[in-house]
Amino acid sequence: MINLVLFGKPGAGKGTQANFLKEKYNLKHISTGDVFRYNIKNGTELGQLAKTYIDKGDLVPDQVTIDMLRDEVEKNPDADGFIFDGFPRTGAQAKALDTLLKEKDMQIHATIALDADDQVLIKRLLERGKVSGRTDDQDVDKIKNRFEEYNEKTAPLIEYYQEQDKFHRVNGIGSIEEITQRLSEVIETIRPPKTIK
Ligand code: ADP
Repeated sequence: MINLVLFGKPGAGKGTQANFLKEKYNLKHISTGDVFRYNIKNGTELGQLAKTYIDKGDLVPDQVTIDMLRDEVEKNPDADGFIFDGFPRTGAQAKALDTLLKEKDMQIHATIALDADDQVLIKRLLERGKVSGRTDDQDVDKIKNRFEEYNEKTAPLIEYYQEQDKFHRVNGIGSIEEITQRLSEVIETIRPPKTIK
């Protein structure tokens, strides 16, 4: 089993890369952003609550996000491993994830950050906003607020994972294939070879 956290600022390419890596390594991809958007689209209570935060570019409160993540993990008891995309984003979430995995005799094997400059990210997000219709991608102030949330609440997790020797960084600028290759090189170094089919 292999469990990965994909880490990086909004627009870094986590979702795009997760879609390739999940096929390549037979992993279940959990994107908290996607689960929130699914709930918003379906008008659930969770969606209505999350929307009030997401529309401003704020993080959704920890407990709401943590409970949702637990449900997603528990829906997939037979998974060969997970890619966590967009989670954890705060210290409380990182600790909750460790606790949840420990309960299930699981652990995070690696956290891999996709690096890119803010200017590149803003450009990517505005382009994505035109195609996806995501309102949080269509306004530079909202995007900047998301970067602030990242710097304040999420960036400290780098140290958390470094202390556990689990933090890796790859250059997030390049073609999609090049970046998948860079991520794969990191995964190959931590993959327990015997347990992979
Ligand atoms: P991006 O990484 O491009 O910002 P996501 O799709 O991962 O996009 O997330 C969109 C929004 O959903 C975030 O700005 C935030 O409001 C909310 N969200 C996603 N994951 C979390 C999380 N782990 N904790 C709190 N809020 C979250």
